[in-house]
Amino acid sequence: MGAHIEAEEAGGIGARRAARRDEAVRAAVEQGLLGPDSPIVGLLDVVGIRESAAELRAAFEAVLTPGTPVLHAFAVKATPLVPVLRLLREEGVGAEVASPGELALARAAGMPSRMTVLDSPAKTPAELREALDLGVALNADNPQELDRIDSLMRSSTSRSPLGIRVNPQVGGGSIEALSTATATSKFGVALRDEGAREWVVRAYLDRPWLTRLHAHTGSQGVPLALMAQGVAQTYALAEEINRRAGRRQVDTLDIGGGLPVNFASEETTPTYAQYARLLAEEVPGLFDGRYGLVTEFGRSLLAKHGTVVARVEYAKASGGRAVAVTHAGVQVAARTVYAPESWPLRIRAYDAKGRPKEGPVVVQDVAGPACFAGDLLAEGRSMPLLEQGDYAAALDTGAYYFAHHYGYNSLVRPGVYGFGPGGRFAVVRRAQTVEEIVAESGGAQVDALTRAAWEVP
Ligand SMILES: *Cc1c(COP(=O)(O)O)cnc(C)c1O
Repeated sequence: MGAHIEAEEAGGIGARRAARRDEAVRAAVEQGLLGPDSPIVGLLDVVGIRESAAELRAAFEAVLTPGTPVLHAFAVKATPLVPVLRLLREEGVGAEVASPGELALARAAGMPSRMTVLDSPAKTPAELREALDLGVALNADNPQELDRIDSLMRSSTSRSPLGIRVNPQVGGGSIEALSTATATSKFGVALRDEGAREWVVRAYLDRPWLTRLHAHTGSQGVPLALMAQGVAQTYALAEEINRRAGRRQVDTLDIGGGLPVNFASEETTPTYAQYARLLAEEVPGLFDGRYGLVTEFGRSLLAKHGTVVARVEYAKASGGRAVAVTHAGVQVAARTVYAPESWPLRIRAYDAKGRPKEGPVVVQDVAGPACFAGDLLAEGRSMPLLEQGDYAAALDTGAYYFAHHYGYNSLVRPGVYGFGPGGRFAVVRRAQTVEEIVAESGGAQVDALTRAAWEVP
């Protein structure tokens, strides 16, 4: 009964999200954000992002012992936009960063150090020093990195919570490139390798300042049960370390992110609540108040709240197939274009006024603007016929899509706008200009390779 009500409620949330999206597309056309001279935009649903942040907090509050310290750190790589990080901060969500650029974005958003976690697999000595100076939490990826931290800690008074990232090697999901917990994954210390577990335990016993343990085993395509197994193994390791240390040395578990997103329909599934309940069943000790909790969700917080909308420049037929040539392709949807089997996106058709298109369903391709044949957002898709001047919207693209521009064909980065109640928009990132492309592409070094530049005086 409870589950039934929850499913209906989830459906209601999805329907309201879809209605807000339709309203935003229409308003974007009416207000000229979208049009012949501005043929592509990214849209972000501010209400939806707040709702997901609230769901995340509530899901873990429901299973945690009251008073347990918890930090939900958004994986910045999912949507690396400063106003998004600021919005999440307002919702009590911190930042998980994995490069100097991402750390700078988090700081630009005013993210406090105590709400920031650094996890990258290739941290330089300078990055490690900066993180320690700032007091940002840090998870060492491997023994060599721990050596570097050792030497820095000798002369440091850092308040950074420090941990080690482990790979429980519980296995992969359906998308190889995104499976972080395979036997040969590049991330963290591979726990089942010979001697590795003992090395990790000793590393903690030798270093009283190691107080966290980190694993990130999920991602799109990884089943919840497997994610829970990864967390269970990490928890068991923390228990072993603490037993052998004779004290609660590991005081915080960082369980990573990786909740998959449903790209096939409007429904949000799985939910944070389902995952938190599964963890509470499988790893009850995790929530009994002895361990602080850090999470690092990315895709599941933002994906469903982003839409890229592109004008249909031309509608043509090729070999009997209807083809809509739009302005959204590989530059905003690299994963879908290069790996369409793994990353199918829903496409919604809007007419020239931004109203949802009705009418008979036609099998068609939705193509992008780039000059290679595979630049397709969708191939052989049955949907109302897209005609010249219409708009095609690629749904659920709020994470790892339009915020991840790929510079093919020197296509400009589209503007990104947040939409709120009442058809109002806020600029999140303005569109790149052609002048900026020239500048980025060595415009100031125009003569660098000409004969004169290389003449020996
Ligand atoms: C990418 C990443 C995340 C976020 O993963 P999602 O699938 O977007 O939730 C969290 N932690 C680490 C270490 C990551 O690399």
